[in-house]
Amino acid sequence: MKKIIRTFIIVLVILLGTIWALVNFNVDEKLGDLFNKIFGTSTSASDSSEHSSDSHDHSSDSSADSSDKPADITTDTLAIRFLEVGNQYTGDCTLIQIGDTEVLIDAGSRKGSAETIVPAIREYCTDGVLEYVIATHAHQDHIAGFVGTSKAPGIFDSFECKTIIDFSLTNATSSIYKDYISKRDAEVEAGATHYTALQCWNNADGAKRSYTLADGVTMNVLYNTYYEVETSDENDYSVCLLFSQGSNHYLFTGDLEEKGEAELVKNNTLPKVKLFKAGHHGSYTANTDALLSVIQPEIVCVCCCCGSDEYTDNVDNMFPSQAFVNNVARYTDRIYVTTIVTETGFASLNGTITVYSDGGAVNVSCSASSDVFKDTDWFKKNRTWPAYGV
Ligand SMILES: [Zn+2]
Repeated sequence: MKKIIRTFIIVLVILLGTIWALVNFNVDEKLGDLFNKIFGTSTSASDSSEHSSDSHDHSSDSSADSSDKPADITTDTLAIRFLEVGNQYTGDCTLIQIGDTEVLIDAGSRKGSAETIVPAIREYCTDGVLEYVIATHAHQDHIAGFVGTSKAPGIFDSFECKTIIDFSLTNATSSIYKDYISKRDAEVEAGATHYTALQCWNNADGAKRSYTLADGVTMNVLYNTYYEVETSDENDYSVCLLFSQGSNHYLFTGDLEEKGEAELVKNNTLPKVKLFKAGHHGSYTANTDALLSVIQPEIVCVCCCCGSDEYTDNVDNMFPSQAFVNNVARYTDRIYVTTIVTETGFASLNGTITVYSDGGAVNVSCSASSDVFKDTDWFKKNRTWPAYGV
């Protein structure tokens, strides 16, 4: 009799415990765990994460975080993140961070990209302050996300931007350019400081050629002739920046084209670089050997929607172009690409690409595949690696 009573009590406790758990926990999420604990069955990690990402947006966000945030990124780490822009249109958006100091270079590709890039930036910029905001030139795929939409407020409406540095010259008359100027001016009205790249180069009006982001880490505005000489090619107006951490250097040239690259090489003493953000999204009109032979990049990151016909029907010239591959292949095969076109729209190729270092070795971490470009299926179908390549 005692045995029966004891068994009855145990069963009752388990039943009450189960009911309590069902009432108090999120059933979908916890039932599997509870089941596993009671019966000792195991679900593979991928199965359970697939389940939770299907049914819970938040869980899917945090699983993306973990692949995106390597454990060895600390406050002393310089982290450069090439962000995806949330659609099938090519555009640039790069967040550079050390400690709680952030630099945002460009905000492409469309006004609606704000819906994707603002939350992505918030994940890293937790104090809501972007210390430096750079707009390289006046094209939509670089400035639209600063503006945003009524549904998705842009960068200027979402963050406190301290110092804004942008192009000195432009031929732009587009509505997106006018919207950018009005949002930028409102941010200045609200307390931001605005300089052109030329003011920075000249150390004029309080602007500086070199900004210290952290101990031993600098952001340097390079000289581009087209800060003060007019050209019909808007891309050549791009603001050019070199970041340095000890002997590690990182180069950003916006959409600078062949002429601009030649001027850049002529007017600056450029070092060999660990990282080069591919010129003009990996276009055949940029990434010339005149520049590459000087900087000899070890890592090249391309911000684009790979294989898109947005700008051309000629597959060779689609971003990242065959000519770009041919030129970069002399120096490195470590080429990474953010996004790829698909039949139904777009998908992550490498996804968010994070290049990071504490001043020594430079590492790369990708939120999607970590394959280098030449190992991707798209490359094998559409590009060739030159015989002289590394
Ligand atoms: Zn562009």
